Amino acid sequence: MLSAAFNIVGFSWITSPAATELEVIVLDWFAKMLKLPSQFLSDAPGGGVIQGTASEAVLVVLLAARDRTLKKHGKKSLEKLVVYASDQTHSALQKACQVAGIFPENFRVVKADCSKNYAVAPEAVSEAISVDLSSGLIPFFICATVGTTSSSAVDPLPELGNIAQGHDMWFHIDAAYAGSACMCPEYRHHLDGVEKADSFNMNAHKWFLTNFDCSLLWVKDRSYLVEALSTNPEFLKNKASQANSVVDFKDWQIPLGRRFRSLKLWMVLRLYGVENLQSYIRKHIQLAEHFEQLVLSDSRFEVVTPRLFSLVCFRLLPPTSEYEGGRQLNYDLMDAANSSGKIFISHTVLAGKFVLRFAVGAPLTEEQHVDAAWKLLQDEATKLSGSA
Ligand code: PLP
Repeated sequence: MLSAAFNIVGFSWITSPAATELEVIVLDWFAKMLKLPSQFLSDAPGGGVIQGTASEAVLVVLLAARDRTLKKHGKKSLEKLVVYASDQTHSALQKACQVAGIFPENFRVVKADCSKNYAVAPEAVSEAISVDLSSGLIPFFICATVGTTSSSAVDPLPELGNIAQGHDMWFHIDAAYAGSACMCPEYRHHLDGVEKADSFNMNAHKWFLTNFDCSLLWVKDRSYLVEALSTNPEFLKNKASQANSVVDFKDWQIPLGRRFRSLKLWMVLRLYGVENLQSYIRKHIQLAEHFEQLVLSDSRFEVVTPRLFSLVCFRLLPPTSEYEGGRQLNYDLMDAANSSGKIFISHTVLAGKFVLRFAVGAPLTEEQHVDAAWKLLQDEATKLSGSA
């Protein structure tokens, strides 16, 4: 409410020094909380900035990477630039490629490895890169995910980082959802390898008690962002910017205008504190674990992928005679559960299986709600098997 009421339009430092300075401070705090490498801090060549969404975050770093590569290979090389990601990567990357002018045929979607909980296999990425290099193309961008949207898989960051470094490629990590969990020491290992990344993103507006929108992006070298995105029209010139002594976040993002979003994050951090925020995350993960145990205790169901965070991927096992492999059955179960108006679950498809997704992430969720949701799912499953 304060952020909206202050109505700050803080594009340049001069338009609101407080908004800019607080953003720098809060993102440094956050980076330290996540134990990001020191290069991502504001007193290093890197730094953090608040974007509206993870989609904007990946777009701006893709533009920075594109321009860095074109500078090396020449402007006419755009048609040769290739991006790599897994088939579990969020569609935000594809959209970013469309906006950035990456040729659609140069967007490599590497199939994730179902034996590794749908993380991408580094060997498959390496192989795709070798094929492209031998065709005279220029691999320039790898996007890894920590907590994929469908099943919260974690891509192997150290190996992908090595591949990126070996080919002078930009390495971006999308931790939009699961980044929040990594502030707990017991989940921080999922970020091992982040030291090899050029950029790292997580959404405070997903699982960090911060109102939409608030997507946190850190880069290891801010000069690439600024080179790709800065403009310097006469009407924005001012003493502070020209002395190069301040940060103008307009050069780290697509729009010019920007809101006082750091105030929201500052408020969350100051109000709760790190320990309470860690307990908040742990509680959700425990509730998801509880749900997972409930599913495992009913032989009519299966847990489809091992649960890493607060998302459980599960399904009702179809009778062996069902030729669709449980698609209709699970669709009907989801539809019945959602039509009750009591819970809302969503779905995905993994290796051809129609999978239901139970996610804990709301501040007021308690064990009784998880139990009630499970009972509802069990009852609906019973009705469905009765009508089969
Ligand atoms: N990346 C991941 C892993 C996501 O789960 C999502 C949203 O679900 C996004 C990116 C896109 O987020 P945004 O809506 O902030 O662009």
